[in-house]
Amino acid sequence: MILDGNRIRDQIKAECRPRVEQVIARAGRPPGLAVVLVGNNPASEVYVRSKTKTAAELGMRGETLTPPASISTEELLEIVECLNARPEIDGILVQLPLPPQIDSQRILLAIAPEKDVDGFHPYNVGLLAIGREGPRPCTPAGVIQLLKRYDLPIAGKNAVVVGRSDIVGKPMALLLLQENATVTICHSKTRDLPGVCRAADILVAAIGRPAMVTADFIKPGAVVIDVGINKIEKRADAERIFEPERLADFDRRGSLLVGDVRPGDMARLASAYTPVPGGVGPLTIAMLMRNTIESAERRTAS
Ligand code: NDP
Repeated sequence: MILDGNRIRDQIKAECRPRVEQVIARAGRPPGLAVVLVGNNPASEVYVRSKTKTAAELGMRGETLTPPASISTEELLEIVECLNARPEIDGILVQLPLPPQIDSQRILLAIAPEKDVDGFHPYNVGLLAIGREGPRPCTPAGVIQLLKRYDLPIAGKNAVVVGRSDIVGKPMALLLLQENATVTICHSKTRDLPGVCRAADILVAAIGRPAMVTADFIKPGAVVIDVGINKIEKRADAERIFEPERLADFDRRGSLLVGDVRPGDMARLASAYTPVPGGVGPLTIAMLMRNTIESAERRTAS
């Protein structure tokens, strides 16, 4: 079974619309999201554009602030403080990565926890760790939605998460634990990674290495969630990674996206899996919208 992220994204967006209406009816204004995009990173520009576009599509207020790459930590802190103080802004997102001169930790700490719609503030990380309600990091929260909406059981399953980043791996593991999976977290120092992964009923790859997870990592019948997004631009890599029938696509486009799992192996062995693109990717922005609406609901509740 192919887990269609676009379909679930559309469901989540459809559920957002009436909630936006309710906020407007109650508060006289839509939920507001402010995205701070520092400098001109082309990938970040694409992400930010689709975030504000989706906000507008749902009838929300989406605002982008674009300070120059040369901005100092102090100046960026001032921008964040200003957004913290504005009542019509419910969600603040500082697009990562930030330029090297910026102290990213100080910036994340400065965002008011109730407006931290990325769920990266240590206060909200703490809420997740103790299982209390709060904004959850969007990508792993999207994975949980995908599993639930396809009725794939999590409780009691062996879940293996490869990757321990603060953005994906760690919160993914905590969310699976909260759903009562038995969770193992792997990283670059894990011994016998294929063997550990082969014990997984649910295998989540969040590594950032194209097609690193191959047939010997996948238990037949496992559910495989591929969070990775990698661009393949060399034909030799494409030949190694893709089935021969995809090579014509590669030749036509000059590049192809691949996740952290070798697509043919995943399709052959998994009982259910997320394709790349069209699996986990579409859910991240939908969950960001949901987090922003939930923040607006909390902040405007009488
Ligand atoms: P990071 O680089 O922050 O983390 C990668 C993790 O993978 C680290 O914990 C690292 O281990 C581990 N790792 C690296 N190499 C190996 C290895 N050889 N064996 C085992 N573990 C390894 O990446 P992110 O978590 O930010 O992102 C992961 C992937 O997900 C990327 O491809 C990214 O593009 C994608 N992504 C997709 C999103 C979406 O919306 N679909 C959103 C966010 C990310 P260690 O800690 O030991 O170094």
